[in-house]
Amino acid sequence: MANTSLNLSEELREYLLAVSLRESAVLRRLREHTAAEQMARMQIAPEQGQLMALLARLMGARRALEVGVYTGYSALCVASALPVDGKLVACDISEAWTRIAQRFWNEAGVAERIELRLGPALGTLDALLHEGQAERFDFAFIDADKVNYAHYYERALQLVRPGGLIAVDNTLWSGSVIDPTDQEPDTLAIRAFNESIHADHRVQLSLVPIGDGLTLALKL
Ligand code: SAH
Ligand code: CA
Repeated sequence: MANTSLNLSEELREYLLAVSLRESAVLRRLREHTAAEQMARMQIAPEQGQLMALLARLMGARRALEVGVYTGYSALCVASALPVDGKLVACDISEAWTRIAQRFWNEAGVAERIELRLGPALGTLDALLHEGQAERFDFAFIDADKVNYAHYYERALQLVRPGGLIAVDNTLWSGSVIDPTDQEPDTLAIRAFNESIHADHRVQLSLVPIGDGLTLALKL
């Protein structure tokens, strides 16, 4: 019994998955397909996808935003939690990776709910704002290049409605956030982001130690 967060052993995580993971056949196939890719580590953990789907459902999300799609696992989790006429705007720069994503979105029958916008995400988010989509989103997931996290977050804060949720991935960065010898640009960016959101009273905050760390920020 401890009023702290567990450092899960491999065995305990296996147990957690055994008694709680409910992964659709398509999600599972997408995960297996991606495992063969060189950058497979970028994909979110399945239990994290399940949590994000639960959160989207909990808040009755109809319109969602994703920054950083890769082969589409997190997008598929969130899109599946939206109503049939819901919409997920998914941003990425990689045509090759998102081609895989689209194949599995089709298989899962949610492709019509997902609008893929290829190009640097900052430009896409600014375009959404110019299109008058400020405060039109319920949920946003930020998981692309870490050096732009602060910019993505500021845009997302404009794009979600009051009461909307912004989820930011990799905020524990495999623990390197507390390694003072790690001065990589990505690490510096995540540290700076974490410190800045801690003091940001525009949102209600929780950093959930799931996957690689998932920061939840509810827009007040
Ligand atoms: N959420 C995904 C993982 C995303 S990995 C999943 O669950 O599987 C990070 C992604 O960010 C990569 O696909 C990469 O192409 C994309 N990315 C990197 N820089 C970007 C940029 N400037 N604009 C948009 N996407 C970017
Ligand atoms: Ca990630």
